[in-house]
Amino acid sequence: MKKIVIVGGGISGLTSGIFAQKYGFESIVLEKNSVAGGECTGWDRQGSHIDGCVHWLTGTKKDTELYDLWCEVGALDGIDIINLDYYYMFEYDGKKICFYNDYNKLREELLSVSAEDSELIDEFISACKAVESIEMPTSKPMDMMSIIDMMKLGKKMMSGFGAMKKYSAVSCKEFAERFKSPILQKVFRSFMPDNYSISQVMFSYATIVSGNGGIPVGGSKAMAMRMADKYKSLGGQLRLNTSVDEIIIKDGKAVGVKLQNGDIIDADYVISACDANVTLQKLLRGKYVDKQLQPYYDDLENNPLQSNVLVAFAVDGDVSNLPISFIFDSEKYEIAGKTEDRVGMRVYSYDKSLVKNGKTTITSYISQNTQQFDYWKKLYENKEAYKAEKTRIAEEILKRILKHFPELEGRIKIIDVATPATYERYCGAYKGSWMSFMSTPKSKQSQGHNGKIDGIDNFQISGQWIYSPGGLPCAVATGKFAVQRICKAEKIKL
Ligand SMILES: Cc1cc2nc3c(=O)[nH]c(=O)nc-3n(C[C@H](O)[C@H](O)[C@H](O)COP(=O)(O)OP(=O)(O)OC[C@H]3O[C@@H](n4cnc5c(N)ncnc54)[C@H](O)[C@@H]3O)c2cc1C
Repeated sequence: MKKIVIVGGGISGLTSGIFAQKYGFESIVLEKNSVAGGECTGWDRQGSHIDGCVHWLTGTKKDTELYDLWCEVGALDGIDIINLDYYYMFEYDGKKICFYNDYNKLREELLSVSAEDSELIDEFISACKAVESIEMPTSKPMDMMSIIDMMKLGKKMMSGFGAMKKYSAVSCKEFAERFKSPILQKVFRSFMPDNYSISQVMFSYATIVSGNGGIPVGGSKAMAMRMADKYKSLGGQLRLNTSVDEIIIKDGKAVGVKLQNGDIIDADYVISACDANVTLQKLLRGKYVDKQLQPYYDDLENNPLQSNVLVAFAVDGDVSNLPISFIFDSEKYEIAGKTEDRVGMRVYSYDKSLVKNGKTTITSYISQNTQQFDYWKKLYENKEAYKAEKTRIAEEILKRILKHFPELEGRIKIIDVATPATYERYCGAYKGSWMSFMSTPKSKQSQGHNGKIDGIDNFQISGQWIYSPGGLPCAVATGKFAVQRICKAEKIKL
């Protein structure tokens, strides 16, 4: 029996493990942390649970390839899916605007703010409807598709591709500024940073409206644990607290890995499912250039990265009156060299299983870019200053939440703060980014990575980084694809 060693027990690595077992390989997943799941995780603080990932999971709609894949890896076993009523709610200049998960309701809502923007509102909604047809193909990787497979795919998604191409060339700021209403301008600049393509907002919103972006009950960590259980139930070996130091290459072929403790594990194939920069720079010692990814690393301005500061709060008592996904304008505050004038909140009251000891968790995310990562990384070297800055920011956010919701006075407390430096420390996330390279009008258009690094045989790279813009669907799909390519090399029928 041939053996596959998989580096990284995130969603991609667990998926590779599951498919390796299914196709008759011996496999081992090596994960440096004490829990599997990688960035798809949650953690407990002061008796409350903080969900650190899934805001929406693409692939929760039945009869899609991705849904079938999530089921195959056990991610959705025996749980319900929550579909929220709206994507975001905003309160700007005292006016509430709800981005309902229903095109007609959204249209009415936006028209009630600005009837003179009706044409652009309709254009946005039409584009969202068009991009709904785009689904991530997960049955096999593009490099294993026949011309007929490609033609079928093209036909199915034709209308979506047209809209995607058109709106990938338009930034969020540019699109927002076409609105006459200052409030709608602000709303459309709130979803993502200004330079990102508006197509990403359309795609995310359309996914949710179409019922394909629900939330698994129990949250992110529980989902990862179901996948880890599935892997183990198939006979896979999941080794936690096991950090890989190097991928061993002999005569141009991956033959195993060296662990941080010096142990060697031999393999017939190695799949590296951790952060791509960790794979290339640390595990492969910077000796190989990935021609497919390098252009992205070389131009971070046009292929930007996404991180955040997360502030988590626990609130006593009933909070069912609070909006679930809410952004409001606030007094200005400084964070990592940038001025913010908004606060975003996510209230986890929608999942009763996450309400612990009568307390509901609220998280507030403040988006951070690459330069801000550098700020946090430097600050992290001085632990006292780093801690003090985290506390200051948490208190600034808390003050603003209390001003907006005075009824929370005496019931809310800060329970944790994570920064871009946290994501790097925990998962090795390059520049603290928990997505891959995001799309801007000047981005390199991805042709789909083939999982290979020139000069290394019997090796696959997988994980969200090799499929822009990343996220859980890219992690699960690339994990499967890596094993399918190995099966092809071994002439195993899929
Ligand atoms: C705040 C936040 C919100 C998010 N929201 C969403 C969302 O709503 N929807 C969505 O689709 N996605 C979301 N994501 C993104 C999603 O979490 C990631 O895309 C996905 O989890 C990446 O999976 P992965 O397996 O590719 O990589 P990772 O999760 O990074 O897994 C890699 C694993 O490799 C391990 N590792 C690294 N180095 C080594 C080593 N040397 N030896 C052994 N192990 C190693 C790491 O510890 C990690 O466990 C969010 C992420 C965050 C942080």
